[in-house]
Amino acid sequence: MINNRICKLFAIEKPIVQAGMIWCSGWELASAVSNAGGLGLIGSGSMYPEILKEHIRKCKAATSKPFGVNIPLLYPDIEKHIQIVIDEKVPIVFTSAGSPKTWTPLLKQNGIVVVHVVSAVKFAVKCQEAGVDAIVAEGFEAGGHNGREESTTMVLIPQVKQHVNIPVIAAGGIGFGAQMAAAFALGAEGVQIGSRFVATPESSAHANFKQAVINSVEGGTQLTLKQLTPVRLIKNKFFNEVDRAEKRGASAEELTNLLGRARAKKGMFEGDLEEGELEIGQVSSAIKTLKPAAEVVDEIYHEFNQTLKSLAQLIG
Ligand code: NDP
Ligand code: NDP
Repeated sequence: MINNRICKLFAIEKPIVQAGMIWCSGWELASAVSNAGGLGLIGSGSMYPEILKEHIRKCKAATSKPFGVNIPLLYPDIEKHIQIVIDEKVPIVFTSAGSPKTWTPLLKQNGIVVVHVVSAVKFAVKCQEAGVDAIVAEGFEAGGHNGREESTTMVLIPQVKQHVNIPVIAAGGIGFGAQMAAAFALGAEGVQIGSRFVATPESSAHANFKQAVINSVEGGTQLTLKQLTPVRLIKNKFFNEVDRAEKRGASAEELTNLLGRARAKKGMFEGDLEEGELEIGQVSSAIKTLKPAAEVVDEIYHEFNQTLKSLAQLIG
């Protein structure tokens, strides 16, 4: 049992956060992770406001433990999402993809614990100034949207730790207990894990996408669309089209047209593995089986403990 700042802040037993992922993490996954002693997050980026409200209510019915909502700040109806988490008294909100200065004061005035996701030290410093309670520092290995700096988790976490005093949750490239132990060695007090939780029955991702995660191989994902918003994708037909366009010097406008609308939904929710956008992290190549979310939490936590014990033996 760990009793560090992250466990206290969220009132959880295991400092394992399930990332809020568009199309993949609704109430079923979030409540399963929270019931297992971690922190489950509803990914609101792909939800219309009414849908978000429904997921929050179902999550409350499915768990008596704390859970949270991830709100990407580039969401078009952002005011509505913010109002819903306040009205529904969601205890914890993770914001991402935007400035932490905009919404942190209002959320905190309403008694909500606020965590912001960053990809670089300069953004982490801004978070602390904005008064957030903790930071997720997400490295280059992560799936989906990512920083332009391309800092790996190994490089990012110690530098963020040097510049802020608030607790840091490491993300990017973490799917197993040894990686969690490595993140703690770098100074993290919690981990945020996305890819591993896509490969669970509780994830709302399409079965085809879950299978694609399990089938993915070393080198099977790449960070792309750097002119728009950098995003790590599985290298499928759609990725190859984007890659070819980028190599011939396509403009941001051409790339936006190629992307079109609802590509992520097509791939991850509707299961179109050729034409869809398939957002997943590098660690997917190590994920070989689909298992219930509670087993994933227990396994990661057990491996984490085993790793710490074997490391302690090194020094006798
Ligand atoms: P697109 O603009 O291509 O498509 C919008 C998608 O979001 C559609 O599939 C639509 O569903 C759904 N949607 C949910 N709520 C709304 C709304 N209020 N207005 C319009 N569409 C809505 O965007 P993406 O699929 O690339 O991204 C969707 C959203 O997810 C982004 O706006 C952003 O907020 C978020 N996002 C966050 C990420 C992160 O933080 N890691 C990563 C990627 C995206 P439908 O097809 O049913 O109309
Ligand atoms: P820019 O890189 O042009 O950033 C614009 C401004 O947005 C920044 O100067 C800063 O403004 C603010 N900002 C954006 N993201 C953050 C953040 N995570 N923390 C603190 N401030 C932020 O364009 P984008 O908005 O497209 O991307 C910003 C960065 O965020 C990029 O590195 C991008 O790749 C990444 N990103 C991360 C996502 C995620 O975490 N899930 C999703 C999408 C993008 P100011 O200094 O005025 O406050």
